Amino acid sequence: MAAPPSNLELRPLGNTGLKVSSVGFGASPLGSVFGPVSEDEAIASVREAFRRGINFFDTSPYYGGTLSEKMLGKGLKALGVPRNEYIVSTKCGRYIEGFDFSAERVTKSIDESLERLQLDYVDILQCHDIEFGSLDQIVNETIPALQKLKEAGKIRFIGITGLPLEIFTYVLDRVPRGAVDVVLSYCHYSINDSTLEDLLPYLKSKGVAVISASPLAMGLLTENGPPEWHPASPELKSACRAAATYCKEKGKSITKLALQYSLSNKDISTVLVGMNSVAQVEENVGAAIELSTFGKDQQTLAKIEAILSPVKNQTWPSGTQKS
Ligand code: NAD
Repeated sequence: MAAPPSNLELRPLGNTGLKVSSVGFGASPLGSVFGPVSEDEAIASVREAFRRGINFFDTSPYYGGTLSEKMLGKGLKALGVPRNEYIVSTKCGRYIEGFDFSAERVTKSIDESLERLQLDYVDILQCHDIEFGSLDQIVNETIPALQKLKEAGKIRFIGITGLPLEIFTYVLDRVPRGAVDVVLSYCHYSINDSTLEDLLPYLKSKGVAVISASPLAMGLLTENGPPEWHPASPELKSACRAAATYCKEKGKSITKLALQYSLSNKDISTVLVGMNSVAQVEENVGAAIELSTFGKDQQTLAKIEAILSPVKNQTWPSGTQKS
């Protein structure tokens, strides 16, 4: 299947030379972490995403205990297109059994991921949720191990991911320039929490590309609400529910508004949204195209921002930090 022309915007991924679609396909839902997804649905979602211009797919061995990588691998294979037509990122160091950022484990991990994804290389390998490990180990051991994987041709670029924003400055201030190509931040560039914005000039100055994930705040900004395991406080959940209800009453889509909000900042290379159905792919790509044609719905957005203002920038503890 050749990718047909698409109106979905492509943006440069920092200094990597890659051009990624503004909407990226978050494959954690393919690991059934937001509810069960059949193999047929997973494959159809990947196919529809590619058909509509999404060229960037993100997964991890952690999502669904390797299920997401396997499903994504099947979906990508079914596309039947040359490997250089899509960009794949996976992660290392976080597994269903726990965290292990040792050089030995991450070196083994990439081979396991490549097998599940049915690929010869991934474009980006990211250290997954580094706040749960020792940041000094990430700097001194994990990133140098990933550098060797780069030299071996198993990965093209190196990234780090996590929730607390200070982990990124800690690492980037301690590694040589160019050692980290990409950071993936999540839940910090959504209508309810936009704290990533303040870090963007710093990341640009370090020559690092920015991937922003979870524009729907991992389900908080959806009509169906978040999954059971969502770590937000009861106040944050309730404010987001009120925002979703307001949108529904006005005949507006909270997910569309939320995704468009995240997509508006062009210093962010790609916004990763988790998708597990053809309908969600259609809606999310449609939201991006509508944004580039008509701009944001400022009036409804202002109302939603007002509803969420009591919980603005509220987050939750993650990793070994104290709450
Ligand atoms: P998200 O904010 O993208 O929300 C996903 C949820 O919204 C899922 O339940 C999905 O089915 C639903 N959804 C998507 N489009 C919808 C639509 N149009 N209408 C209604 N519901 C819709 O959260 P996420 O999936 O956690 O984040 C996106 C991706 O980013 C992940 O899949 C993963 O690839 C990546 N991510 C990485 C990290 C990390 O590295 N630490 C953390 C979070 C997310």
